[in-house]
Amino acid sequence: MKSKLLLATALTFVAATAMGQGTELQYKKTPALNEDWQKPFPGFKIVGNFYYVGTYDLGCYLIDTGQGLILINTGIEGSFPLIKESIEKLGFKLSDIKIVTSTHGHRDHVGDIAAFQKVSGAKVYMEERDVQTLETGGNIDYRQTKGRGFYVYPPIKVDVKTKPGDHIKLGNTDLTIRQAFGHTPGAVSFTFNVQDGGKNYNVLIYNSDGINQGVKLLDSPGYPTNVEDFASTLKEQAAYKPDIWVSSHAGQFNLHQVYKPGDPYNPARFGDLAAYQKKIADTTRNYEKQLAEERATAKK
Ligand SMILES: [Zn+2]
Repeated sequence: MKSKLLLATALTFVAATAMGQGTELQYKKTPALNEDWQKPFPGFKIVGNFYYVGTYDLGCYLIDTGQGLILINTGIEGSFPLIKESIEKLGFKLSDIKIVTSTHGHRDHVGDIAAFQKVSGAKVYMEERDVQTLETGGNIDYRQTKGRGFYVYPPIKVDVKTKPGDHIKLGNTDLTIRQAFGHTPGAVSFTFNVQDGGKNYNVLIYNSDGINQGVKLLDSPGYPTNVEDFASTLKEQAAYKPDIWVSSHAGQFNLHQVYKPGDPYNPARFGDLAAYQKKIADTTRNYEKQLAEERATAKK
């Protein structure tokens, strides 16, 4: 416990230093790791009032609540024009975005939140454990506890801090925040109901609990509870039975296998429960394998 307290103090100090010297921190452009992140992809209706507005691989979502729009994820910095085009071609206006939030504080999902916040005046909601990362433009990241010394993306002012079990309500929509802790300390999924054609759909925007390359489960001083967090998230995710599910990356929910631009509207294409359960089983197996390997190495 003492070490956790010390760590929390150290992180706060680092963050305070980073924020205090905000004007001195420089922005450093880091190249996209995957060209599919920046490739355009036409927006389309997933089900009812729920739309895909992301890039070829970065899952970004729009909900038309009847009293304004909710945007979930904004892609990497530079995605703004692609997402804007998708939103407008679907017949919506950026000025109607009232809430922007994200599945987790990595640059490929929050990189253009600041741009959307600026044009729409929307309020930014974020899980409290990823807020510091966003507010320092990715300078503070559990993978680099001393900070990087530069902003990775434009810093974001978070208006509302959330935690699992909280709800984001707007118009006809009530999003429940679900923990996806592990991938980042404050990663989340969202569940909500959509009505369409006399049917009710239980929708899941799922944040995959993959372990980024280079991340150590047993030696991650910036994230001391990651082993427990991964385990409890994977257990919780294994229990979901969504009617419709999508994810933070198109590849994680097989978008390009089940949908081609111009295909007719058919929500059922995103309802493959067996495929969802396989994803969770694979992710769990990878986590257990890496943990076992790290434990075996630690014993030597
Ligand atoms: Zn990530």
